[in-house]
Amino acid sequence: MNPSSVRVLTGDRPTGRLHVGHYFGSLESRVRLQNEGAELYVVIADYQVLTDRDIAANLPGYVEELLLDYLAVGIDPERAVVFTHSAVPALNQLLLPFLSLVSVAELQRNPTVKDEIRHSSQAAVSGLMFTYPVHQAADILFCKANTVPVGRDQLPHLEITRTVARRFNERYARPGEPVFPEPEALLSAAPLLLGTDGGKMSKSRGNAIALAADADETARLIRGAKTDAERHISYEPERRPEVSSLVLLAALCTERDPAELAEEIGGGGAAALKQVVTAAVNERFSPVRARRAELARDRGFLREVLRRGNKEANVVADATLEQVRTVMDCVY
Ligand code: ATP
Ligand code: MG
Repeated sequence: MNPSSVRVLTGDRPTGRLHVGHYFGSLESRVRLQNEGAELYVVIADYQVLTDRDIAANLPGYVEELLLDYLAVGIDPERAVVFTHSAVPALNQLLLPFLSLVSVAELQRNPTVKDEIRHSSQAAVSGLMFTYPVHQAADILFCKANTVPVGRDQLPHLEITRTVARRFNERYARPGEPVFPEPEALLSAAPLLLGTDGGKMSKSRGNAIALAADADETARLIRGAKTDAERHISYEPERRPEVSSLVLLAALCTERDPAELAEEIGGGGAAALKQVVTAAVNERFSPVRARRAELARDRGFLREVLRRGNKEANVVADATLEQVRTVMDCVY
């Protein structure tokens, strides 16, 4: 595919610092696509923080943490558009026609939403929880992105986006002139990195190794990671998910083959595995950590990056909303 015809949208909730699962699941692909010449849009999904909690705590602080993580891993503010949901009204307005294109049953059977409800801190499930995958359709389609580098948890949501795009085109577009593309998910080699408790690594589940963690914190977290009762280390993702996810993390950091690396550690057991993983993570991310610390000294620059991104996202969203209202015959 010609890189200049690739438009990428992806993003993260401002609920904490980004972790190594984000890096190998999505950030690395974002930076690679950007550097190959694709257009990159990154949404800081502030409204979606409210899917699983009553109050979005510390939003300005977490937004800043995300910006630092993005810039530290190589997202280039000169080329990429980084924006927050709440600053782009026309994007949010797309949610209304889009909601009319999906059924309640389709929303209720989404397996990722079911998993998130299980982990939610709320006593009651909000309407936003069921509808946020349609909001994500608005995130992706407002800029007509065709490529979405995401982790495996996002696949059901991307299917909803594709459904929304297809149905919108069928219902409202002139034949041969689709308004929206049907975007493709781009899964990396690590679409579901596990956290230290053996569940999906997540920034709000207390099981994550943050990109910005220091060497000691990284060592402590990995020391406490769940493994299993078998001594010999092997790479068998289906049968031994926790051990294999640790092997994979070390392999990704060192650009090695996970099966070969596991073989080498072999009889050293979990203790040797954890040492290898700790050294690999610390070495791989030490330049990122140094850049992040440098960037953290200039908060004014971070705000400027976001201000520019929000401005640009509004121009794109306004144009798309105008087109949507035109084809829906809502221009008076
Ligand atoms: P939270 O616990 O607040 O939901 P999160 O860690 O799940 O945080 P998100 O902001 O929900 O992070 O997800 C951002 C992106 O990172 C999505 O594309 C998601 O698929 C990807 N991602 C999240 N966790 C992982 C993981 N463990 N492995 C691979 N990709 C992941
Ligand atoms: Mg999540």
